[in-house]
Amino acid sequence: MQLERKQMLEVEGGTDTECLRILRHEAGHALDTAFRLHFKRPWREHFGSFAQRYPDFYKPKPKSRKFVLHLPAWYAQAHPAEDFAETFAVWLTPRSRWRRRYKGWPALQKLEYIDGLMNELAGAKPRNRTRTKVEPLSELRTTLRKHYRRKREKYNFDWPAVYDRDLLRIFSDDPRHSSKPSAASFLREVRREVRQIVAEGTGVHQYTIDHVLENMIDRCKDLKLRVATPAREARRRVMIVLTVQVMNVLHSGYHRVAL
Ligand SMILES: [Zn+2]
Repeated sequence: MQLERKQMLEVEGGTDTECLRILRHEAGHALDTAFRLHFKRPWREHFGSFAQRYPDFYKPKPKSRKFVLHLPAWYAQAHPAEDFAETFAVWLTPRSRWRRRYKGWPALQKLEYIDGLMNELAGAKPRNRTRTKVEPLSELRTTLRKHYRRKREKYNFDWPAVYDRDLLRIFSDDPRHSSKPSAASFLREVRREVRQIVAEGTGVHQYTIDHVLENMIDRCKDLKLRVATPAREARRRVMIVLTVQVMNVLHSGYHRVAL
């Protein structure tokens, strides 16, 4: 966890609650594989084709009620296999009150299907008896250095946005304010806090958001911007602008398919 935090700024599943979310999700994949559930016709009717190519990108629709909400970034929308795992995780969560929570949502039909299916399977032996090991440790040759280089590259993708106009709405380039604190040092001060809040609200990785903040800091330096409003107000505006930027990128296709 220390290494991950140092390299990537956040630890996925780093708290008990988050870790359980992931384990419930993975338990869904495990059952799906063990009982070959995705070959069943109703499975396909509810979730789509399991054989569908795994995307590098997915474009979530944050308001969709066809999918449950469990892991961040509307992950159920990434692929039918993830939709099943996410729906299963909601069903499995104790006291999740899914019937009430998803009342009136098309996603409820998927939950009801899983509820019935799990009752059917209770006590049955898994159909998949293969002993094949996937990527056994003894065959792994990737070093941590390589792993983190790849992971960081993946989350450091080119941000397609230009934010000069937004920055000028928050800060000022008016020479009258030249004695005020610089926007760049202000952003550096609030960087950590803003990064965490926006990551929580949007489900986008902190490392990606930090990368955007870094670009913003550089632009602030180039444009010689100063903080001309009270710090609280400037902080609030930074949060709004950053959230909007991140949401735009989500809509243009953001990938958070696990590495
Ligand atoms: Zn998954």
